[in-house]
Amino acid sequence: MQLHERGILVHPEELTPDWLDRMAAAQLNTLGLHPVGGPKAHESLAAAIDAHAAPQSVALRQAAASRGIAVEYEAHVAAWLLPRERFAREPAWFRMNVHGERTADFNLCASNPEALAFVAERTARLAALLDTGADKHFLWLDDVKDCSCHCPACRGLPPSDQQLRIVNAMLVGLKQRNPAAKLCYIAYHDTLAVPRKTEPADGVFLEYAPIGRNHHRPINDPDCPENVRESRTLTELLQFFGTRDARVLEYWMDNPLFSNWTKPPRLFALDEATMRRDVAYYHALGFTSITSFGCYLGPDYQQLHGTPSLAAYGQILREAGCGHD
Ligand SMILES: [Zn+2]
Repeated sequence: MQLHERGILVHPEELTPDWLDRMAAAQLNTLGLHPVGGPKAHESLAAAIDAHAAPQSVALRQAAASRGIAVEYEAHVAAWLLPRERFAREPAWFRMNVHGERTADFNLCASNPEALAFVAERTARLAALLDTGADKHFLWLDDVKDCSCHCPACRGLPPSDQQLRIVNAMLVGLKQRNPAAKLCYIAYHDTLAVPRKTEPADGVFLEYAPIGRNHHRPINDPDCPENVRESRTLTELLQFFGTRDARVLEYWMDNPLFSNWTKPPRLFALDEATMRRDVAYYHALGFTSITSFGCYLGPDYQQLHGTPSLAAYGQILREAGCGHD
């Protein structure tokens, strides 16, 4: 079976009609808009919300649709869902650090029912503000590790269970708006472990994002310690969440990674051999939806280094399931 979804993620401000043309030529059918993460993720998300309704953004989404490209947002949303200013009024909604202090630095308490209800309602509002017509949502907690809640109620819950609890709550909000809504559980950093004490609600699916991998060795290379570590739980994650809707979010085209997250973007070259091996492996595991970050390849890149090609990337994704793997 061929991949249903062959995608790429860009920063919203990098999107141009020309990019959509190259996506279409490479037969990529899924575009992820990824507001910049990091400590200001809530600000870049707010900017994306403002831009979403602007005429040029609407026109770009229409241009994507006319090329058969579905548009989705993929973003770190915790600080937008639970604004840090609420800490003064509701400290118990926030996480407790290892020193026993409530803190508004990252994420939230996964056991506070009011916090979860608040976040559920905010998730529904966010989906309305960033509506692209998609049922599947890719909304992530903060881009951190070792920042789960250590309150008495959460202490026995590993980060994976805490994230899944919050995802389940967010999905309650999404479903009130759209009963067909689905929401990803992103497995990366300390959420690569399979949740042990929490079951996924109906509509939660796996998004696997092995950020800590070695990007120039195949993900299933038994002689690569980083990749052994990053992929150790993958088959178990697929058993737990199921292969339906399961998504790979890779870094093959992620130029920030190769530019050390600093502009100007460096000249980029796709490691086709590694990607081809990875795609074959993911496809054999049952993934039918594969994307990669593809940021820092927009207009500023084009000025410096010429037009980045999506052809080889698209071709390797198309080859999956065609007997070439
Ligand atoms: Zn807690």
